[in-house]
Amino acid sequence: MRVERGARIGVVGAGAMGTGIAQIAATSGHPVVVVDTNGAALARAASGLERAIQREIEKGRLDAPAGAAAVARVQWHDGSGPSGLDAFADCGLVVEAVVERLDIKRDLFVRLERVVAADCILATNTSSLPVAAIAAPCARPDRVIGVHFFNPAPVMALVEIIPGLGTAAEVTAHTRALVDGWRKTTVLATDTPGFIVNRIARPFYGEGLRLHDEGIADPATIDWAMRELGGFRMGPFELMDLIGHDVNFAVTRSIFEAFFYDPRYKPSITQQRLVDAGMLGRKSGRGFYDYREGAVRPQPVADRELGAQIVERILVMLINEAIDAVLWRVASPADIDVAVTKGVNYPKGLLAWGDAMGLDRVLTRLTALEQEYGEDRYRPSALLKRMVREGRSFT
Ligand code: NAD
Repeated sequence: MRVERGARIGVVGAGAMGTGIAQIAATSGHPVVVVDTNGAALARAASGLERAIQREIEKGRLDAPAGAAAVARVQWHDGSGPSGLDAFADCGLVVEAVVERLDIKRDLFVRLERVVAADCILATNTSSLPVAAIAAPCARPDRVIGVHFFNPAPVMALVEIIPGLGTAAEVTAHTRALVDGWRKTTVLATDTPGFIVNRIARPFYGEGLRLHDEGIADPATIDWAMRELGGFRMGPFELMDLIGHDVNFAVTRSIFEAFFYDPRYKPSITQQRLVDAGMLGRKSGRGFYDYREGAVRPQPVADRELGAQIVERILVMLINEAIDAVLWRVASPADIDVAVTKGVNYPKGLLAWGDAMGLDRVLTRLTALEQEYGEDRYRPSALLKRMVREGRSFT
């Protein structure tokens, strides 16, 4: 089972992700066919893709004839009829990027199987559903795999490759090689909640919210500290406002539930209230910050000592989460550090950061938090304790 260079690529779902994936495949030289059940979404996606390619040309990242050829390579099909998926008959790979619902995805994969060739790979772009569950009703779960792009897909370098329980090793190898050829950086993740990035990034938001809820610092100060002292591109509150609290809260909640309510992933009531109030962030004009006309941005308390404590507390939680992901074999240490630098733009890999800080210092800080609060949330990973005991490091 091999997807040849120039093979036709199918995309189901012409939303934000499907359109981005179509753009990547088309600019990599593949003929692409995109199917959506919603005609208006298809029209929006077609003009959105053209605009995106035009921007690439204007920025000098693509020459005009190559851009025009990429646009011409994409076909758009209305998939609302009974034969809506027939357009995928001669595809080497079909990537599903429809709404995040298990029942809809399962039904789609069963229907896809009936139209595609025997050697076609079927991929899902799900961010939170188990690949194994999507593949379960398929006659051939061995050719179903997770291929998780980040938003916006043409811009973000990282792609998580997630074989399900039944995925054939050659399908994983070929899919990874294909996506590498699209000038993406792939990492291999196990089929566990949040895969690599969405799991490891949880404390960035969760511990930021906790500091705010306890009144240790306000959002502007926490954001300032994480940017100015931590070197992150954005602080947790401005980032949650950008992502949208409905989306960010739903991810946290789904990971908390998927880990059988492990307190480490517990959602915040403060964020729940923002969702309840419809204060979803930038898109609704208000979140932690006010984006309405004339609103004044609050100033941080630019106290470097307080800032250093904030950064250290969020950072040790992130490092602990990354180390625990190594313990649970979610991914290799190298892939974990690549994932956080390329998937969420952290300034450094968290494992390398732990080494630079000193794993003993990370452990001491976490143990102090665990004792202070008496909460399982702050428990240090067994691997962190083992590494400190044995004097080992990741790098
Ligand atoms: P979206 O809502 O923008 O687009 C989904 C599209 O799928 C819509 O156009 C809808 O009409 C279409 N659709 C729904 N059911 C369909 C069906 N049965 N057949 C064909 N088309 C159908 O969603 P999105 O943000 O692009 O997300 C798509 C998938 O990618 C989801 O699984 C999501 O979890 C995942 N994902 C999203 C992001 C993100 O940041 N948006 C990032 C990574 C992964």
